[in-house]
Amino acid sequence: MELQLSKHSVQKLKFVGESKSKQLKKIGIETIEDLLFHFPRRYEDRSNLKKISQLVPGEVETLRGKVTRVEIVKPRPRLNILKCYLSDGSDVIAAVWFNKIYLKKSLKRGTEIIVTGKVGGGIWGKEITVRDYEILSEQEELHSGRIVPVYPATEKVTQRFLRTLIWNALQKYCDNLVEVLPFSVRKKRKLASIGWAIKNMHFPDNFQVLEKARKTLAYEELFILQTALAKIKNNFQNAKGISHLTDNSTIIEFKRSLPFLLTGAQERVWKEIQEDMESASPMARLVQGDVGSGKTILAALALVKCCAGGFQGAMMAPTEILAEQHFLEFKKLLKPLGFSVELLVGSLTQGEKEKILEKIKTGTLDILIGTHTLIQEKVEFKNLGLVVIDEQHRFGVGQRSALKEKGYNPDMLVMTATPIPRTLALILYGDLDLSIVDELPPGRKEIITRYVAEKNRKKVYEFIKQQLKMGRQCYIVCPLIEESEKLDLEAAQTLAEKLQNQVFQEFKVALLHGKLKTAEKEKIMERFRDGEIDILVATTVVEVGVNVPNANIMVIEGAERFGLAQLHQLRGRIGRGKHQSYCILMGNPKSEESKKRLAIMTKTSDGFKIAEEDLKIRGPGEFFGTRQHGLPELKVANILKDQKILEYAKRDVSEFVAGRLQTTLEEKERIQNIILHNFNFKSL
Ligand code: ADP
Ligand code: MG
Repeated sequence: MELQLSKHSVQKLKFVGESKSKQLKKIGIETIEDLLFHFPRRYEDRSNLKKISQLVPGEVETLRGKVTRVEIVKPRPRLNILKCYLSDGSDVIAAVWFNKIYLKKSLKRGTEIIVTGKVGGGIWGKEITVRDYEILSEQEELHSGRIVPVYPATEKVTQRFLRTLIWNALQKYCDNLVEVLPFSVRKKRKLASIGWAIKNMHFPDNFQVLEKARKTLAYEELFILQTALAKIKNNFQNAKGISHLTDNSTIIEFKRSLPFLLTGAQERVWKEIQEDMESASPMARLVQGDVGSGKTILAALALVKCCAGGFQGAMMAPTEILAEQHFLEFKKLLKPLGFSVELLVGSLTQGEKEKILEKIKTGTLDILIGTHTLIQEKVEFKNLGLVVIDEQHRFGVGQRSALKEKGYNPDMLVMTATPIPRTLALILYGDLDLSIVDELPPGRKEIITRYVAEKNRKKVYEFIKQQLKMGRQCYIVCPLIEESEKLDLEAAQTLAEKLQNQVFQEFKVALLHGKLKTAEKEKIMERFRDGEIDILVATTVVEVGVNVPNANIMVIEGAERFGLAQLHQLRGRIGRGKHQSYCILMGNPKSEESKKRLAIMTKTSDGFKIAEEDLKIRGPGEFFGTRQHGLPELKVANILKDQKILEYAKRDVSEFVAGRLQTTLEEKERIQNIILHNFNFKSL
């Protein structure tokens, strides 16, 4: 009989009552399954403990011995020393505790104990000052003489308690663990059984065994995750979508009207998009291209194709500034073709909004651009044929499907500049097809990036002045004062005023920040684009998407406070025109990590390299944060170390979903069930 461990409370276990189960819940353990999957944080090798006679004075050592005698010494008032003499047959040593006389009652003669501490000694014999100890019980094999698991624990849920609890649960329930992976896969990849893997993940006999257990579990985890993503993709592709079959004349006309030719990479990706749009299954394509690679024009092409066939298109961007920029550009590009474009953002008046909503509903509007306002209830399209999501990493997976829901299986194009290492893209975007724009438009010069120390601030200002005199423009990004948006704003205001009044009197300085009304933001961006403003002091509102090719200097204040991905995005605002661009990192990096980040920035402008370094510095946990991507957390697999496993799992999954993997019906159903239970498809 199959016992569903996920349905059995830990209260079923010995030693777990009402209050213990509450304490366990705090570390995420409610069911027996949770407990068995509560993996060690690290392991301690206690398999080869030294004999007392071999201990080296002055070193921190760990030893195991039997209590022969306990005494309490009171050398002065308020100081009690507990001395517990331990023997292991080779010699005797006194374990010493200060002011812990209550321990005396647990240290009965004959009790076995493990202690770690600094070894000393004098004329009265060897001593060890205890830092850490464990009293061994009947189940002493759990806590010593072996590789011992060290768990995420709390004061109330101690290591010893967890170890014993998990050990007991393993004895009793390990055989009830359900094998998830099909037998054929386990055989092909030489994986262990789930029961064996779980047991050895907790109590391995040696480190080789542990690695095999870990690999098995990591493989299973990645197999399930990727199967779920593949399923979403399949569901989507099997749905009947729109074939955007139009004659090519509008596209040709549009391309001709552009002031430039598409790059090779843009042409290639456009072809991929076109094929997707023409096919009857809905497009789900991710276009990844470094900052400045020219993704917007691909969105415009797709929208033109969509509207030429009489359908409506929508484009969602994460900030109002970016939405507005797209709106202005598309209006300019698409009006001549006879397509109407509107902007829907939160700050419109009720009347304005209603007018636009009406046009969308009746179908008199072709293209709607906006922020997350687009996914609000009131927005109803007559015949939505394409949704474009720009800077998609800023949206949750849920938000991108919400926009899709506004139509009947419309095509979906998502764009991101967040350069994601290939392995990560395999997981994160397993449900999307991937196109990569791996070429920058011609004539771009490599951005020169320097770290400048505070004492050279004057020189930086002199340099900026020279450039401004030649007609260029400059961004100065304010430091993040993480605790408070209000403080951020004040700092920005102070900086802008100081620059205008004391440094750049003969130039125009303006401040742009998130708290401004949309109309004001628009006005400032318009004046910056038109060259009326020379220096734009900004908070990170300019981080994504903003495109003013004449601006060629980016000064980032307090650069050490920004993450690599963000620095790269900020720097991406320049280097967009024909002029040599300069990125100046100011600040005072103190930690090794922040120094490293800035060094990477000065060395490379390749987004992929930067992302890889970022992943290394931040670690997969943070990079692969659940919140950001709406995907489940990985418990065992480490996408950095386990790239091979990831690739293998990917291969097996595609065989599996194509029905080419040898499986029994039961195995198939089991995987389907697990996916149904563990993945919330609605939110995906
Ligand atoms: P991103 O990929 O960061 O969204 P954009 O789409 O904003 O980049 O494009 C950056 C700049 O490059 C824009 O000014 C755009 O007009 C220009 N651009 C795009 N494609 C080309 C091209 N093929 N040739 C020349 N300039 C281009
Ligand atoms: Mg862009």
